[in-house]
Amino acid sequence: MNVLSNPRSTADYQAMDAAHHWHPFTDTADLAAKGARVITSAQGVWLTDSEGARIMDGMSGLWCVNVGYGREEIVEAVTRQLRQLPYYNTFFQCTHPAAAEFSEALAQVAPPHMNRVFFTNSGSESNDTVFRMARVYWDCMGQPSKKIFIGRHNGYHGSTAAAASLGGMSGMHAQSGLPFPGFAHIDQPYWYGEGRDTGLSPEEFGLARARQLEAKIDELGEDNVAAFIAEPIQGAGGVIIPPESYWPEIARICRERNILLVADEVICGFGRTGSWWGSETYGVTPDLMPIAKGMTSGYQPMGGVLISDRVAGPVMEKAGEFYHGYTYSGHPAAAAAGLASLRILQEEKLVERVRDVLAPKLATLWGGLADHPMVGETRTRGFLGAIELAKNPATGERFGEEVGAGARCRDLCVANGLVMRAVGDTMILCPPFVITEDEMDDMAARARKTLDDLADQLTREGLM
Ligand code: PMP
Repeated sequence: MNVLSNPRSTADYQAMDAAHHWHPFTDTADLAAKGARVITSAQGVWLTDSEGARIMDGMSGLWCVNVGYGREEIVEAVTRQLRQLPYYNTFFQCTHPAAAEFSEALAQVAPPHMNRVFFTNSGSESNDTVFRMARVYWDCMGQPSKKIFIGRHNGYHGSTAAAASLGGMSGMHAQSGLPFPGFAHIDQPYWYGEGRDTGLSPEEFGLARARQLEAKIDELGEDNVAAFIAEPIQGAGGVIIPPESYWPEIARICRERNILLVADEVICGFGRTGSWWGSETYGVTPDLMPIAKGMTSGYQPMGGVLISDRVAGPVMEKAGEFYHGYTYSGHPAAAAAGLASLRILQEEKLVERVRDVLAPKLATLWGGLADHPMVGETRTRGFLGAIELAKNPATGERFGEEVGAGARCRDLCVANGLVMRAVGDTMILCPPFVITEDEMDDMAARARKTLDDLADQLTREGLM
């Protein structure tokens, strides 16, 4: 049956879903009882649900639809590719035009010291690939004891076994006995959440958090540490924007201690921070960069690892075959989508648009929300934003967990026609790069109305 030509009712979809669909990162029984919102179509920055409601997508799907919905160029490129060659593998001495062309196009936009890509299907697989590749690299360098990875508490690198171990999500770790041995974590550079009471300035706090890496390397022994991994700006952790002092210090430590630096560019890559790479925005040159999401703008599932010459050279020369890969590595339709999305970014100068138009305007608009009585802090970098909800903005006192201020705010926000996501009581934002300036004003008005509604609701219930 064709679901597009023969749509069923919202209740029908919700019933099927409730009976058979186990949702990712969701209390599935709870959702089944409520009924999932059914999204049926989208255009530009607007989603439409099965009841006909239009909602502005302030999260670009899940941080991925950077070039916006309804891009016929991508649809056509994928369709053409599916007609010509829907699938062939890249394992057995074969390639195809889509994978070859996309790898060249990626190398052209990658930092100059990165000239090779390993294709995967997701950000998680990209980070599992990083885990294996970095270990092989140190074997090839005659330093096989360098095996441990250092990540960060509240970092997110995906859901597969190694990626979840690299990440520092306490809930994920508690549920399945992670991290595996061989993974260590340092604290995050989260000024609003963890820095304000330290007596340090943001820049001092950034340095202190970066220097935890040095201390951790000393504790574990430099000869045992393979790599440090971090997102240039933490996304899933709550759009945590590090103080400017943080990244240069991290880069210095990795360089001096001979530790590979892995910048997880799954969210920050492809223009999100106003340059092609988040690491570029912060002036650092990583050895490996896992990518996904904006790589195809979400039109097809795809990820990859961009690999520096430093790592690629010895591994290719000494290991020969790297026993790693996925059936769909370099999938033709995904590569065609990626190439088409990349061309849109280039031809419409969307990375420059983020830098010159969207980022400054978002900074102004979100700065304008900072005086709201529900708000402890707003922050933006590039086209990412966060609002910290606070019970007492002057002291930064948060609402108790039992209040669920973030979840309430998210629901009110959707009712006001805007998707923002809640991470605890931090409201986060990551809109598509094709949003108009008028739509941005509209977005900020919906956000302000949501904060007003939240204040009303909490006051009514005696929670303020
Ligand atoms: N790394 C980062 C920084 C991410 O934000 C995500 C996904 N939110 C991942 C890795 C995992 O990507 P995926 O969900 O495609 O496996």
